[in-house]
Amino acid sequence: MTASPSRSRSHEAFARARSLIPGGVNSPARAFGGVGGEPIFFERADGQWLTDIDGHRYLDYIGSWGPMILGHRHPRVVAAIERALSRGTSYGAPTEGENHLAELIIAAVPSIEKVRMVSSGTEATMSAVRLARGFTGRSGIVKFAGNYHGHVDALLVAAGSSAATLGVPDSPGVTAGATQDTIVLDYNATEALEDLFAARGDEIAAVLLEPVVGNMGLVVPSHDFLAAARRLTEKHGALLVFDEVMTGFRLAYGGAQEILGITPDLTTLGKIVGGGLPLGAYGGRREIMDNVLPAGKVFQAGTLAGNPLAVAAGSATLEELSDHSPYPLLERHGARLEAGFRAAAAAAGVPVWIARRGSMMTMFFQKGDGRPVVDWPTASMSDTKAYGRFFWGMIDRGVYLPCSQYEALFISAAHTDADIDATVAAAHAALADR
Ligand SMILES: *Cc1c(COP(=O)(O)O)cnc(C)c1O
Repeated sequence: MTASPSRSRSHEAFARARSLIPGGVNSPARAFGGVGGEPIFFERADGQWLTDIDGHRYLDYIGSWGPMILGHRHPRVVAAIERALSRGTSYGAPTEGENHLAELIIAAVPSIEKVRMVSSGTEATMSAVRLARGFTGRSGIVKFAGNYHGHVDALLVAAGSSAATLGVPDSPGVTAGATQDTIVLDYNATEALEDLFAARGDEIAAVLLEPVVGNMGLVVPSHDFLAAARRLTEKHGALLVFDEVMTGFRLAYGGAQEILGITPDLTTLGKIVGGGLPLGAYGGRREIMDNVLPAGKVFQAGTLAGNPLAVAAGSATLEELSDHSPYPLLERHGARLEAGFRAAAAAAGVPVWIARRGSMMTMFFQKGDGRPVVDWPTASMSDTKAYGRFFWGMIDRGVYLPCSQYEALFISAAHTDADIDATVAAAHAALADR
C-alpha cells in the first residue's frame, strides 16, 4: 500500500473555500463528488505536469477538461498572450485578431462558413439553439440523455457528467416551461429518432448532439445513428447541430465531423478554440449564420466576446495544431494507454469497458457482464465506487485523472512515451492494490 502523501494545504484551502464559494468550487466538476474526498488545489502547470499547493506533481490527464491539448504554457501560446496583453486587454470594438481566428476556424471545420465568437461553450450552444429556432420558426429541440451542452436551461435535462454525478438530472430552478420543447432520446437510438421524426418532424427545429460523447464518459456513435440524424433533419427541414465544444480540434483538426464524414448545419466550439482562455464559438452555413444580429434578427451579444487575449491564445493554439499536427502522436499514445489499461485491468481481474477515440478515453468499471457502453442507461450502470478507488490510487502515484467515472480523460501533445508507460505502471499498481 502506498502511503497517501500529505495534502494539508489543500485541505485548509478547501475548508476556507467552502466558507466563501458554494461547495468550495466555481464549477461542480471540480468538487470530487464522484470519487469522494476533497479536491486538490493547484498552484501551477507546465507541459504535461500539474503542481499542487502542497508541492506534489501529477501527470495531467484532464488538461483543464480539454482545452490544453498542447500542454500547459506552450511557448507559442504564452508569447501570443503576452503580445496581446501589451496592447490592452479589451476594447469592446472589433479587432483584426478576430478576423484571423475566424479564418482559422472556417478553414479547419468543414461545416463552418461563418462564425460568431462568444465566451464559453454554454453560450455557444445556447446561441445555436436560439438561432436554429429563429431560422426554422420551430420550437422543438432533440437532445440525447448523457450529452452535456453547458448549463443552458432548455438543455439541462438528462445532462450527463456533473448532473449525473450529483444525481440531479433536472436542476431546481429550471422550469417546466423552459424544457417543454426539449425532447430527450437515448444516444444511438436510431429507431426512436426515426419514430420521433415520423410523428413530429415538422415541430423540430434542431437535433443537437455530441458527435462523440465525452460527458457520460466516452461513448462513440454508431454510423447508422449519425447518418439517420443527418438524413432525417434534412428531410424534415430541421437543423443538425454538432456540439464540438469538446471534440473540436481534439479528435482531428476539423473536429469529429472531419473523421466521421458527416457535415452538420451548425457547429458549436469551446475549450481548445480558446487555448486555455475563455472563448467559445458557433458557426455554420452562411445563410443560417446571416440570421444572427446585426446581419439578421436573432439576438446574441457579449461584452467580452472575441476578447483579444482569448483570441490570441486560440489563434496560436490552432496555428500550432495546423503547423505541427499532433494527431498521429495523440493516436499512438492513446492506443498505448488503452492497451496498458486493458492489460492492467485483466491482470487484476477487474471487469471494465474501455472506449477511446484518439486522445479521449474512458475506462468504465463494470459491475459484471462486460456489456458495451453505448448510451446513458448502459453507462450509468458503472461501478463508480471502484472508479473512485482507482482514481485515488492513481492520485497517490502522481497521476491526475478525471474525478468522475463519467468524464473522459485527455492526453496532450506534451505527454511522452515515458509518461504513458509510467501511467500504465501506476494503473497496474493501483488496480492490484485495492
Ligand atoms: C464543456 C462543454 C460545454 C460547456 O462549455 P463551457 O465552456 O463549460 O460552458 C458544452 N458542450 C460540451 C460538449 C462540453 O464538453
